[in-house]
Amino acid sequence: MRFIDKTRAQNRVTGLTINRRILNSCWNGICYVNLRYDTVDKTELIHHLVKEQDGYCCYCMRRLHLQNGENHRKNVTLEHVIPHKIELTDWESDRVKYRKYPSLNDRNVTVCPKGELTDPTFKFGMPPFPHFLSYDNLVASCDGKTLNEEAQEVPHHCCNNKRGNNYVEPLYFHENVSSEISYDARGHIQCPEEYEPYLGEKGINIMCRFLNDVRLFWRQIAYSEYTAEQVGEAESNEDLRTDIIDDVFTNDPTGHWLFLNEKNAWCIFSDYSWFYEYYHRT
Ligand SMILES: [Zn+2]
Repeated sequence: MRFIDKTRAQNRVTGLTINRRILNSCWNGICYVNLRYDTVDKTELIHHLVKEQDGYCCYCMRRLHLQNGENHRKNVTLEHVIPHKIELTDWESDRVKYRKYPSLNDRNVTVCPKGELTDPTFKFGMPPFPHFLSYDNLVASCDGKTLNEEAQEVPHHCCNNKRGNNYVEPLYFHENVSSEISYDARGHIQCPEEYEPYLGEKGINIMCRFLNDVRLFWRQIAYSEYTAEQVGEAESNEDLRTDIIDDVFTNDPTGHWLFLNEKNAWCIFSDYSWFYEYYHRT
């Protein structure tokens, strides 16, 4: 996981400018009309957040795709740090936990219970901006599509899954997150015990078997003669794919890795090349 720094001047100016454009597009001179997260045009905001995160999911470090391509489908979603439709009672009980993060303090974000403006006649000029579309309260995450044990694609399995209004600690806002969360030689996450509920099955589910496998795959690649570029090239090159599997993974007597011969499985694994650099460094 990587620290997402919302105070970097250039990114911040752009993010807040986009926020203002969205707000102004709904202002009719007297009040806001249809200023809702689901109906406003968020294209520019999505592109900006993906760029801010260097194209990686804030949770699982998968590459984010803004549109469908030959080997990858669009997979970017926006994640609200303070949930989009938070109930007033949830906000009251979790307020202190959220507000301790500078980007979520009351100078940057104003919380609108259930994702609805409290006073549509109040015109926003400077932050705080409404939490449901605020640059400070949004990060880009993947859609959580993974493979199940039969190597079939399953949607919403991790990351931006149905967390509802539950509090999930925004670990990507910790400056030292890259040392707090590490990945061991088996591909498993090592972290302080208190974070496990947020990272585990009831949270964003990035300690799941699929992602352990993905990280182990990249660890094996990082320790082999192959490069991340070759793994990318093998998405469209079946012979190269077979060679990599033969050379790196066939010493596993269970035959566990043979599902990677399937192009769709390979392409999902290939999306996590961030871990190539990670395991090279460690
Ligand atoms: Zn993800």
